[in-house]
Amino acid sequence: LTVTSLEKLAANVHVSCRVTLTSVRIPLRHVLGDPAKMGGAWQTLRVTGAIERLIVSALSQGLASSVVEHAVSFAKQRQQFGHPIAAFQSIQHTLVEMKTTETAMRLLVKHAVDAFESGRDATQEVCMAKFFCAEQLQHIVAKGMRVMGGRGYFEFDDMARFYREAPFSLYAGGTVEIQKMLIARSMGLGG
Ligand SMILES: Cc1cc2nc3c(=O)[nH]c(=O)nc-3n(C[C@H](O)[C@H](O)[C@H](O)COP(=O)(O)OP(=O)(O)OC[C@H]3O[C@@H](n4cnc5c(N)ncnc54)[C@H](O)[C@@H]3O)c2cc1C
Repeated sequence: LTVTSLEKLAANVHVSCRVTLTSVRIPLRHVLGDPAKMGGAWQTLRVTGAIERLIVSALSQGLASSVVEHAVSFAKQRQQFGHPIAAFQSIQHTLVEMKTTETAMRLLVKHAVDAFESGRDATQEVCMAKFFCAEQLQHIVAKGMRVMGGRGYFEFDDMARFYREAPFSLYAGGTVEIQKMLIARSMGLGG
């Protein structure tokens, strides 16, 4: 067994490692799911996978909310041409778009959580929340950077960290492409 830690773009709140198993034998009592049939853990994974997708959706929405709050606060303080930049209509429209999208993310996460808690198969709602929130977060954080001007590019400002952390949600819990594939299946599309 060898474990090597890997450097990442962000998400350094946890360590990620390359784990190599060579000639490892697993005792039956340590096999997940029903040891009598290999692959029995898949059902468990389906449930924990949905929970992971909900967590990543909520995480994306939470990050989006911080981005909006930070950009609004900056726009009210930053003075240019004798006015706070929040007084310029183009900045207002950008902030309005960010806030509206973040609200849509919040509602879709709630919709997915409600569907999951109802106990029925919530694959469609959960995957919709995951892909929508992951993609929209990228747009929100890119707009947030624009509102900040050059300041957002510097490490002393939180926006630089938000920008670096945002792509994580595109991959964690499965890629956007895979979420769409699962939604298409739930709609009865394909062969
Ligand atoms: C920082 C980080 C932390 C992670 N933490 C965890 C964790 O805790 N637990 C865990 O289980 N996983 C974790 N992952 C792994 C993550 O779930 C995978 O990276 C993700 O599912 C994509 O798999 P892959 O990297 O093998 O990409 P690939 O499967 O190689 O995909 C490459 C590209 O091909 C596309 N693609 C692949 N198959 C299809 C298809 N059938 N149809 C259309 N497009 C397709 C993908 O969407 C993607 O664009 C983590 C990843 C990162 C980056």
